[in-house]
Amino acid sequence: MGAASCTLHKKVMKVFFYMFLKKSAFFAHQEKCMKTLQCDVVVAGGGPAGTFAAVKAAENGADVILLDKGYVGKSGCGTFGAGSFKAYLKEEDSFDLWYGKAVEEGFFINDQDWLKKHFDTIGDRVKELESWGVVFEKNEDGTYNRIEGQGSSDKRPIKTLMFHGPQFMEVMRKVCKQKGVHIVDRVMVDALLHEKGNPKVIRGVVGFHGVTGEMYVVKARAVVLTTGAQAYKSHYADLHMETGDAHIMGLEAGAALANYEFNCHQLTHGNFATHGMNVSQGLGAKFVNALGEDFTAKYDPEYASHGNLWRISASMALEVHFGRGPLYFDYSSYTPKDWELFERTLPLMYRSYEQAGYVDKNRKVIQGKLSWVSALIGNVGFGGGLYIDIDGRTTLEGLYAAGDASYGPTSGVEGFCAYAMPAASTTGAAVGEASAKYARTVGEVEVDDEEIAEVVKKLSEPLNHPQGVDPVHVVIAVQEALFPYDVYILRTEEKMLAALRRIQEIKKYDVPRLRALDAHGLRFALEARNMVLSAEVMLTAALYRKESRGSHLRLDYPEIDNENWLKWILVEQKDGELSLRTKDIPIERYPLRPEHKRELHASIAAARKLGEKI
Ligand SMILES: Cc1cc2nc3c(=O)[nH]c(=O)nc-3n(C[C@H](O)[C@H](O)[C@H](O)COP(=O)(O)OP(=O)(O)OC[C@H]3O[C@@H](n4cnc5c(N)ncnc54)[C@H](O)[C@@H]3O)c2cc1C
Repeated sequence: MGAASCTLHKKVMKVFFYMFLKKSAFFAHQEKCMKTLQCDVVVAGGGPAGTFAAVKAAENGADVILLDKGYVGKSGCGTFGAGSFKAYLKEEDSFDLWYGKAVEEGFFINDQDWLKKHFDTIGDRVKELESWGVVFEKNEDGTYNRIEGQGSSDKRPIKTLMFHGPQFMEVMRKVCKQKGVHIVDRVMVDALLHEKGNPKVIRGVVGFHGVTGEMYVVKARAVVLTTGAQAYKSHYADLHMETGDAHIMGLEAGAALANYEFNCHQLTHGNFATHGMNVSQGLGAKFVNALGEDFTAKYDPEYASHGNLWRISASMALEVHFGRGPLYFDYSSYTPKDWELFERTLPLMYRSYEQAGYVDKNRKVIQGKLSWVSALIGNVGFGGGLYIDIDGRTTLEGLYAAGDASYGPTSGVEGFCAYAMPAASTTGAAVGEASAKYARTVGEVEVDDEEIAEVVKKLSEPLNHPQGVDPVHVVIAVQEALFPYDVYILRTEEKMLAALRRIQEIKKYDVPRLRALDAHGLRFALEARNMVLSAEVMLTAALYRKESRGSHLRLDYPEIDNENWLKWILVEQKDGELSLRTKDIPIERYPLRPEHKRELHASIAAARKLGEKI
């Protein structure tokens, strides 16, 4: 690993920071203080997907550098992993039931080859995780303690393993180190480098240190993007690190995105962010409306309060639409034993409940019925991202993606139940192996110095506008455009077009003037930029798909149209503009196919059956 290290003393760097305000001084600083590293495989993003990719690439003989915007093991969604690890275990589960449900909830948009690969390998990942020290809840006899979370019904029971996100990620950091992965914390990667003279091949990344401001150029034979989802800094995602960075740097470098019209909907406390819905629902909490009715069964008789995210989100939006809000989540059936399990698997959430006075020190429920809402959280866990093939290759050579940075090939429309951490583990492991093998076929790495200079200039641009637009303004403006329920769940062309116009206005007028005063501020500015660009992709793709399908529920196209829309929508950037095309899903080759050519979306059908005018 060749590293030309920066020799500037820290104090001098501080001085340079204050000089950032002056363009010329800033670029002088960049030149003097640029770190150039080289390796076989560079991984950007150290969540479950990135750490698995790094470990597997190292096990396959690659020299690996892992860069993370935060601190590997303490940042990203993985650390918030809320108790449920929905892994198919061949010793205990029915393959046909799990596979069938995954395709059904994926609304046939899954890549069924990937799904098979996921089920074939997830058991090995669980064993591996346990051997490394990740703790899954066990019964006294040593078997897994599994509960029925989201997407489970008496007719088709699906049981989830229980784990603790922070503990999982601490173990993954330790394993990376043991395998010789070189971890660099606090570097935000935000651009890709092409092979010299070859715009279809990727050979490196550029980022900067979020504290010191040093620019990092990493030249590599293969690049793996695992920077997670685009969560639109939702108040309800519990974290603000995931801003679709991989999606946008991939798009701008020439790679295709897919499934961007599909989103994850968090179900959460009305006043503060909560997580752990699988465990909460699994232990028997219920959704009720303003009239005190458990309304979920009306829209979804099989799953009722056990429904998965989009099903309940749609039911909640419809109840509010028909005037029966506000809505609540009712924990009053919980016993002290339920709370004990809840506390063990969801310690952060339990603490917030204790602080809010909902449960006392003896685990007795004081207030059982809590205000509850559905909220857009982008593509956390499933939904859009970089299109990948069965080995995790994107549409550009040398560029791989996994986890939430990818388009979620195993899950399709909705990560069936809590697919997210398991899918990040299997896709991460697969790309680690594939990228290391590919790297062995690549000779000397050559990138263009002019491209590096251009990229550094582009990434530093907000430092040239100290009087410019505050990133917070842009973040709030994007949220105002995307978060109304008639834009993200009960969609119409009119509302989505209005939101898209607003996003394009922000892109045109605010993004070029985003301001940053230091390296920390630069991160916020680039995150805000990535949010705007992701929002544009999301709305453009949602307008393009003229049907309803799972979480993509259009009141103006309420039917699922398998005749015309059993396709992936691929989004690319050509000459600075978004360009959309479809790719047929090879459904004839897959084991499972939809029964009907067209059918009314189940939530709309249920509402109409109840006599509602919609
Ligand atoms: C509150 C909450 C609860 C959840 N509960 C569950 C659950 O119970 N079960 C489940 O299966 N899933 C759950 N999920 C979803 C799951 O955590 C994610 O889908 C999963 O962690 C995705 O893994 P990943 O490695 O792709 O991304 P992440 O875990 O998000 O990791 C991405 C990493 O990339 C880093 N990064 C981001 N941008 C950059 C950049 N530009 N440069 C460098 N590094 C970058 C981040 O710091 C982070 O470390 C939950 C998510 C949330 C938010």
